[in-house]
Amino acid sequence: MFSSLSDRLTATFKGLRGKGRLTEADVDTTVREIRRALLEADVALPVVRAFTGSIRERALSAEVSQALNPAQQIVKIVNEELIGVLGGQTRRLRFAKNPPTVIMLAGLQGAGKTTLAGKLGKHLKDTGHTPLLVACDLQRPNAVTQLQVVGQRAGVEVFAPEPGNGVGNPVEVARRGVEHARDKQYDVVVVDTAGRLGVDAEMMQQASDIREATQPDEVLFVVDAMIGQDALAVAQAFQEGVDLTGVVLTKLDGDARGGAALSVATTTGRPVLFASTGEGLADFEVFHPDRMASRILDMGDVLTLIEQAERAFDAKESAALASRFEAGEDFTLEDFLTQMQALKKMGPLNKVLGMLPGMGAMKDQLDELASDGAMKRIEAIVRSMTPLERHNSKVLNGSRRARIARGSGVEVSEVNQLIDRFTEAQKVMRAMRAKGGGGLAGALGG
Ligand code: GDP
Repeated sequence: MFSSLSDRLTATFKGLRGKGRLTEADVDTTVREIRRALLEADVALPVVRAFTGSIRERALSAEVSQALNPAQQIVKIVNEELIGVLGGQTRRLRFAKNPPTVIMLAGLQGAGKTTLAGKLGKHLKDTGHTPLLVACDLQRPNAVTQLQVVGQRAGVEVFAPEPGNGVGNPVEVARRGVEHARDKQYDVVVVDTAGRLGVDAEMMQQASDIREATQPDEVLFVVDAMIGQDALAVAQAFQEGVDLTGVVLTKLDGDARGGAALSVATTTGRPVLFASTGEGLADFEVFHPDRMASRILDMGDVLTLIEQAERAFDAKESAALASRFEAGEDFTLEDFLTQMQALKKMGPLNKVLGMLPGMGAMKDQLDELASDGAMKRIEAIVRSMTPLERHNSKVLNGSRRARIARGSGVEVSEVNQLIDRFTEAQKVMRAMRAKGGGGLAGALGG
């Protein structure tokens, strides 16, 4: 996501590097390039104008001319302005004083509302809530079933229309859904609503009626980051039609140029709360404007990386490994496999590496390394070893390696490569013990 915008901006800043002073012409060139980069990323023109206008003003002010390193100062300004446009501080969900909290989802058909309802349900459940999903999209065939499927996958209850539950009338379903939540002590209700392929008056009226009937604490505008220039008009229509409280960006995993994010946030004046980055339930992030800005500027997003590592690496398992390790036991192939599996849980390696400063450029080459196939082969190899071999790889001589290769259906060279990689990892772990660290999670967190 944002990769071409990111490439363009970093190239622009590279051109400034090493300049001791910036002339007005330098600033103009830079602003022009930023403007071009934003337009190419599909940011709407009025938004680009406002953005570059304030950058130019600040770049010509004393804040830059008197800075020790004017080029860096400009990166800092662009970073701050980006954070501002994306909503400033991280905006958390607002919960009602008297539950249930009602969260209404609105947006065009195909924006990803139903998928998001499942993700949001899981996120709420994971954070100690008892959510209920309410199926009010009665326009799109299968939308109700789809919500029931994602609800089941997320382990979250779904309230769906049936005789007595306002069949055929979305406003009635929404109202009864909230009532049901109140009766049955669900503390958050997520209302999935219908969308159309384009903005139309009837849909907007329905959304507005559902808003009126359920009095939501949050009205989240769900928008597909790939819709590009159209985002501006759609966001405006929803802001006027239903009065939004926040934005959720979806499909940030695609080759979206990402401009919609900047346009929508600026146009609605509403903060982005969440980002959806894939079709799976886990492809969901709390949106942090500052972290997103550093990702766009390829300054890395180490904080999100650490959080994902914490989620992927079982704390108990890691602690057990660390204490065994401190007690003098060696790092074994079993441990290696566990760590590799945890690493894989963090998602495609290219996504993970894209969050590291400066790694944006090479992330595409790394996907294969952690592909499903490669991971399955590693697992098969380790599983073909005897317990003794897993604990002491030194006993793996040539003939054993050949047998293991046969047993796991791979070439001997692949077994050798795995053992080499493991030996390297073991060395790192031993060195870490000498320094008192604790595994990859420890290395990232500490
Ligand atoms: P709705 O009409 O707004 O309810 O949209 P859906 O939730 O049915 O989503 C439309 C399509 O987009 C489905 O095929 C989803 O699997 C897909 N989708 C939703 N969110 C994402 C996302 O973040 N990334 C990708 N790649 N696909 C998504």
